[in-house]
Amino acid sequence: MALAHVLGVPRIGPNRELKQAQEAFWRGAIDEAALQAVASGIRQANWQRQHAAGLDWVTVGDFAFYDQMLNHVALLGCAPQRFGFGRKLDLSQYFQLARGNAACHAMEMTKWFDTNYHYLVPELKPDTPFALGAEWLFDEVAEAQTAGFKPKPVLIGPLSFLYLAKEKTPGFNRLDLLERLLPVYAQILARLKAMGVEWVQIDEPILALDLSAEWRSAFERVYHSLNAAGVKLLLASYFGPLRENLLVALKLPVAGIHVDCVRGADELAQVIDWLPATRVLSVGVIDGRNIWKTDLAAVLDRFEGLHARLGDRLWLAPSCSLLHVPVSLAHENRLDPELKNWLAGADEKIAALSTLKTAFNAGRPSVAAALADNAAALAARRHSSRVHDAAVAERLHALTATHDTRNSGFAVRQAAQRARFRLPAFPTTTIGSFPQTADIRSARARFKQGELSEADYTAAMQQAIRFAVERQDALGLDVLVHGEAERNDMVEYFGEQLAGFAFSQNGWVQSYGSRCVKPPIIYGDVSRPHAMTVAWTRYAQSLTGKPMKGMLTGPVTILQWSFVRDDQPRATTALQIALAIRDEVVDLETAGIGIIQIDEPAYREGLPLRQADWAHYLDWASRAFRISASGVADATQIHTHMCYSEFNDILPAIAAMDADVITIETSRSDMELLRGFGAFHYPNEIGPGVYDIHSPRVPPVSEMTRLLEKAARVIAPENLWVNPDCGLKTRGWPETEAALENMVAAARALRQRNGNGGGGQAVIAV
Ligand code: GLN
Ligand code: ZN
Repeated sequence: MALAHVLGVPRIGPNRELKQAQEAFWRGAIDEAALQAVASGIRQANWQRQHAAGLDWVTVGDFAFYDQMLNHVALLGCAPQRFGFGRKLDLSQYFQLARGNAACHAMEMTKWFDTNYHYLVPELKPDTPFALGAEWLFDEVAEAQTAGFKPKPVLIGPLSFLYLAKEKTPGFNRLDLLERLLPVYAQILARLKAMGVEWVQIDEPILALDLSAEWRSAFERVYHSLNAAGVKLLLASYFGPLRENLLVALKLPVAGIHVDCVRGADELAQVIDWLPATRVLSVGVIDGRNIWKTDLAAVLDRFEGLHARLGDRLWLAPSCSLLHVPVSLAHENRLDPELKNWLAGADEKIAALSTLKTAFNAGRPSVAAALADNAAALAARRHSSRVHDAAVAERLHALTATHDTRNSGFAVRQAAQRARFRLPAFPTTTIGSFPQTADIRSARARFKQGELSEADYTAAMQQAIRFAVERQDALGLDVLVHGEAERNDMVEYFGEQLAGFAFSQNGWVQSYGSRCVKPPIIYGDVSRPHAMTVAWTRYAQSLTGKPMKGMLTGPVTILQWSFVRDDQPRATTALQIALAIRDEVVDLETAGIGIIQIDEPAYREGLPLRQADWAHYLDWASRAFRISASGVADATQIHTHMCYSEFNDILPAIAAMDADVITIETSRSDMELLRGFGAFHYPNEIGPGVYDIHSPRVPPVSEMTRLLEKAARVIAPENLWVNPDCGLKTRGWPETEAALENMVAAARALRQRNGNGGGGQAVIAV
């Protein structure tokens, strides 16, 4: 008898009820009791759904008001000491950790493995105390029991918790904190056991990472010690294969192990070989990272033999928590019905799990109709003409080396571009977006609602563009942008105009705290039926004599921030998008736009979790970028932009993109991020961000000149651009103008100091 469970489910509620309630609570519009009532309603509905689907437990502890790591900080009583809170946080203190308060900045946030979810990074010092803190987990277990459910609590394991935390004091090793941390875990497990809990799921997703011997060897000690608590532990690993951690995981003294059979499909045979007798094996067979229906017959074919051997020691599950998929796609009524029938959100994945469980236990005929529907949907998708476009396949097939290289090397291009644009030394520019004012947003909303005609909408956007161009001209910037007024989002804007993309109405996925994103769905071969940005850019160029920079989102970022096809390699989809962007680049060039920026902020975050897989990724990612950029003449200048990342470990791959100019976020690290570019002798031009756009603060000229001088010590001054860290869409106009005025002044001061362009662009151009 196979059992079934989930590792976790979305906590945002079917209509983002948690977001509305959180934000209302933060505004002071509702009190804590009202917020708690919404949270409890979401949990109860989630448990009810799992129970109704015939799952053997309901998962408890996957709920969080902000973030699951922050919940563990509360549970383990280790809030950063700088806040001065006691061991037992209240909800308001919990939110202060996440959002900051007047005295303390918020805890740092970073990406959860290779997902688009962000967690709060625990801060550790040698004397960080650990002690049982918030009682929320126990309250929720009791809440589930009271409602008549059988709870399986989930914890983040002590090693993953420590690994994902950050040492805030130099010269100490956070692994040394284990001895103090483990007794608290033991206490938690004992409490759960005393409450009648039989199984605890303990997540150690770091098993999917490259671990040093030190971390790897800590596992055995930790799980020996936790095993003593007497509650059955299901050790869960996910987000990838175990590889060299496989034996470590399988030999641990735990009652069961969960493995990701989607990303770790290839090592299943090895897992089965090494699975100790009596150990439970939970197989993650439904993709928790994507929105496609699972091929149920294929799962049955693959696991029926194993089921015969393991019986109730075989558990069925999604590969990872369903946090990373939309709650449900059942109510999408604008998606094409055929496409919709290929998709599955968390609810649909739970239903599929239920079907699988019945098929394993009562035979396929007992769920014949559901299996037949599933097979029909999959067959339709496989053969659909919506998915396959022969012209795209043809183009991909015809790609040669000439498509991913510019006509000439950088030195020749640089000379051609300098002769053409005659920019001053330390040329100034911005990253693309200008403030998205209330007027702009309301015009877009009214246009979408059909309240504003297309002509009126165009006029409203042109007005915003004109305003942005006039301001930039007045400020004396050298390379202008149109300001991206017409764009809601840098991926959605392009996805909406490309073939092969679809958009849900309500397919929200939590990104962090109350923030959710609605990723586009790439379901078919991608192509560009018509120009996407040319009219706006041409209009903007008509308003000024300065060069107008065209602004596009790059293929890797579009891929990275979408749900992607699972029926072809990511690389293939990336190349298809690259060709579509290339068409746009060429059209912009034809329209007289001489400088074109292809943003790739997600280039770094696309890196696979394992270093052994990096080279392959960087190879196709940089190729995709080059394909998008290489259709133009030498004198056309290609920019790219990256942010939110460390770049130093991928500098060769950034150089391999061969953009003429790269602008990067550096101001918050005080130009430290630039050091690597210098040491690496990065060959092309660079614009290190000279001010942080995340805050309304207007930095004085002196601060920016200091940063520029620092930059000029590691990068040849004639290759330096002057720009902010990132786009300005979240800022207001007054601070934007003030900051840019200072930025232009800083660039001018530098020109002066360098003998009015000594070593600068203008000098080299003549
Ligand atoms: N061009 C985009 C903007 O300025 C870039 C955004 C980003 O890097 N995330 O808004
Ligand atoms: Zn950016």
